[in-house]
Amino acid sequence: MENKNSSIFDFELKLIYEYFSNFERQGVGSPEMTIKALSFIDNHTQESKILDIGCGTGGQTMTIAQNTKGNITGIEIFPNFIDIFNNNAKKRGLQNRVNGIVGSMDNLPFHNEEFDIIWCEGAIYNIGFERGLSEWRKYLKKDGYIAVTDTTWFTEKRPTEIEDYWKVHYPGITTISNNVNTMQKAGYIPVAVFTLPENCWIENYFTPQASVQENFLRKYSDNKSVEEFIKNHCRYEEEMYHKYKEYYGYVFYVGKKY
Ligand code: SAH
Repeated sequence: MENKNSSIFDFELKLIYEYFSNFERQGVGSPEMTIKALSFIDNHTQESKILDIGCGTGGQTMTIAQNTKGNITGIEIFPNFIDIFNNNAKKRGLQNRVNGIVGSMDNLPFHNEEFDIIWCEGAIYNIGFERGLSEWRKYLKKDGYIAVTDTTWFTEKRPTEIEDYWKVHYPGITTISNNVNTMQKAGYIPVAVFTLPENCWIENYFTPQASVQENFLRKYSDNKSVEEFIKNHCRYEEEMYHKYKEYYGYVFYVGKKY
């Protein structure tokens, strides 16, 4: 987050966050898939402590809260998202057991073996799959669970255009079998692995963006970087997905600490 040209950088970052605060979720996923991942985790009770890393405004966190009885902490680097997160918890009457705090996933302010479950949907790419799994393990109790989603190659070979796209956007992207291997080496028993269906991308991620994009382009019509962000980033991401979705997607990985 350090940048010498900080005023321009902060300004652009503000716009990106303004854009994403319009949505229930900032990443790819669905309540059904969150519940499916939870179904592989046994023995959670009202004593359970759950951590949701890179929680955004809390779309998946509220689903976890409504399907468990434990206490949930959401941690997120962007303060505005945490304000929205805590409002969302209040609106649903969950504020007594769901709390959002500002912090970074590469420097978590927790004790060793504090949590029964660590969750992270659509955010581990910020530090990388391997690093996240390895560094977060110490915060889990023995027999605790980790559940993360990450963009993953579905096939062994891919067309050059999509290889090049992901080389720029997420150099750490790899195959399901490599990630399962990484999970095992990091000290977890792989418990479940499943791919997220297309509706998690299309209905829940791309479709809600269309009208917000129109409003944004109108509101910031004199701002070249907004135009570039929407046309060259958001719309290009969608175009790539439609063209190459058989080669990659989000995958849920659930592991148990041993
Ligand atoms: N889990 C949410 C948000 C995913 S988008 C969902 O699935 O909807 C990724 C989130 O990670 C964003 O909210 C972003 O602000 C947050 N993030 C990025 N870097 C981070 C870091 N170092 N520590 C904590 N959160 C971070």
